[in-house]
Amino acid sequence: MSSSEPQPIALSTPCLEGREWEYVKQCLDTNWISSAGPFVTRFEQQLAALIGVPHAVATVTGTAALHTAMLICGIEPGDEVLMPTLTFIASANAVRYAGAKPIFFDVEPTHWQLNTELVREFLEQRCERRGRTLMNRATQRPVKAILPVHVLGHPVEMNGLQALARQFDLAIIEDCAESLGASYFGRPVGGFGDVGCFSFNGNKTFSTGGGGMLVTSNATLATRARHLTTQAKSDPAEYVHDEVGFNYRLPNVLAAIGCAQLEQYERFLACKRRVAEEYRDRLQRVPGIRLPTEAAAARSSCWLTTVQVDASTYGRTARELRAWLREAGIESRPLWQPMHLSPAYRDSTWIGTDVAEQLYRECLSLPSSVHLTSDDLRRITDRMEAGYSGQCTCGLTEVSASSLAPPRAA
Ligand SMILES: *Cc1c(COP(=O)(O)O)cnc(C)c1O
Repeated sequence: MSSSEPQPIALSTPCLEGREWEYVKQCLDTNWISSAGPFVTRFEQQLAALIGVPHAVATVTGTAALHTAMLICGIEPGDEVLMPTLTFIASANAVRYAGAKPIFFDVEPTHWQLNTELVREFLEQRCERRGRTLMNRATQRPVKAILPVHVLGHPVEMNGLQALARQFDLAIIEDCAESLGASYFGRPVGGFGDVGCFSFNGNKTFSTGGGGMLVTSNATLATRARHLTTQAKSDPAEYVHDEVGFNYRLPNVLAAIGCAQLEQYERFLACKRRVAEEYRDRLQRVPGIRLPTEAAAARSSCWLTTVQVDASTYGRTARELRAWLREAGIESRPLWQPMHLSPAYRDSTWIGTDVAEQLYRECLSLPSSVHLTSDDLRRITDRMEAGYSGQCTCGLTEVSASSLAPPRAA
């Protein structure tokens, strides 16, 4: 028997077991490390093919892709963009970078995605047409776009959203940062909206360390995205720039990693799914631990397996379970503080009830890396089972009251 401590298990780490080294070495050997280079084009083409769209533009981060998407979709200062309250803050920040205002909607309780019924009610009852523009009656600001986020990799109900976007003349910008590999009615996410945005950040299924990509079927939008992300150069030799652009292009050396990552597309997704399925099988027997289900039309990318903890049955709150796992060297994470509660988004319009708040209180994402073994998963689920105490001790390390309270106006 070994007396050494078991290895810590992290939430989500990159898996670099393909040709990453070989491709990076090619960049270093040839001196092509910066934002022009063959791997950038290849990475773009690989992703476009996977999503089934003709155009892709690689960016330094997923956030940069989202910001660029706002600009090419014509989002202007003072406009409003409809989005879920339950997301990583980068989605909302992209809206603010364009000078627009997010309107936050609750999520539905079954798959934890944007509640499209609330969006419909808002558009039908609280907006009115003025010429070609849809106005929010309460704020007198134009409503321009919907920003669905496929949270944790499960697709949003896109059919309903597409119909609303057509009816009300709105752009759809999909935040696919967590959902590369997910599909809805058999079609990959990212191709449903006017623009789809992906992230290759360190904790995503496919990682380049940092990176992003914007995809679109619209050639004009793609050209404009390429222009804006390369400082809006119109004459590179003479340094003529026809507007204020950005330095948002992905370096070749990172695209090289991306190419190697995408070569492992099927395998990574199969691993993520196996992790989710093993959790489901093993946690079934633990009272008070619930996993979300997959919608009939949906195939999730299974980015992070996340459980909902019913403290009165399990005997510990999600935060207490988190501490219990940490003591055993197992990392886990709550979901994001809902945007309408975030101090960064005080005074934003918020439409919904308490679904996202409850998920924030009760959910915990479990280790979900591609290379987790069955032994790792057994260690995690055994620990969770051992943590079941069957009686409520709630309130010991409950989520801090201040992070659930609406932010006070300054
Ligand atoms: C990771 C993530 C982003 C941002 O991607 P970066 O590449 O880190 O900028 C945006 N939205 C969501 C939902 C994310 O999870």
